[in-house]
Parts: sequence; structure tokens; C-alpha cells
Amino acid sequence: MHELSICQSLIDQVEQIALTHGAQSVESVKLKVGPLSGVEPLLLQHAYPYASAGTLAAESTLVIELAPLKVSCETCGAETEAEPSWLVCGACGSCHTRLVSGDEMILMSVELITAEGTNHV
Ligand SMILES: [Zn+2]
Repeated sequence: MHELSICQSLIDQVEQIALTHGAQSVESVKLKVGPLSGVEPLLLQHAYPYASAGTLAAESTLVIELAPLKVSCETCGAETEAEPSWLVCGACGSCHTRLVSGDEMILMSVELITAEGTNHV
């Protein structure tokens, strides 16, 4: 299952951060996912408890923020939002566009429980 392996590498990354900061556990993980990232947010949510079981992130919540799909137009220079299946300029309709955002999966922040309390990194 594709999303489970994505989740496992995400948990690896989160655990590294938690260990670096001497955290006791992870409270929440915030992720930004674009519509062209190839990741299905719902499946990621389902896979998360399995991937995090037995790790410092076992009790944590996965928060997924959807990134907008944006293209920059090479004809008129406008930056507009587009549909995943139809990457045309929203201003002039040109198909000579460049993807600005929408294919990313970024770890935005991690909320950690440390001896001093809650810590956002
Ligand atoms: Zn345009």
C-alpha cells in the first residue's frame, strides 16, 4: 500500500525531529499536501495509526492541510489556481503554464511533548 510507506517515511522523519529535541512523545503532525502530489489525504489518515504504532508518534494526530494548485502563465504572466486535470491559465486560457504549487507534500510542523511542556517545531 502506497500511503502506508509514505506514512512510514513521514513517521521516521517525525521521530528524528522528536529525538533531536529530546521529546517524550509527539502530540500532532501537520502536513501540507498538494492535489498533484500523488498522495490521497484520506488514505494517509487511515494509514497513519498503523505507521505510528509503537513509535514516539503513536498517540499523535495527523493534520493535513490541502495546498492549492497554482500555475504561472508564460503567455500573460498571471498566477492563477487551476484544476488538477486542466492546467490552463485562469486569466487568459493559455496552456503554456508552469506549475507553481500543488505537487508537494511538506512536513509543516510537529508538536512535541517534552519535559518542559509542549513545543512546536
Ligand atoms: Zn495567461
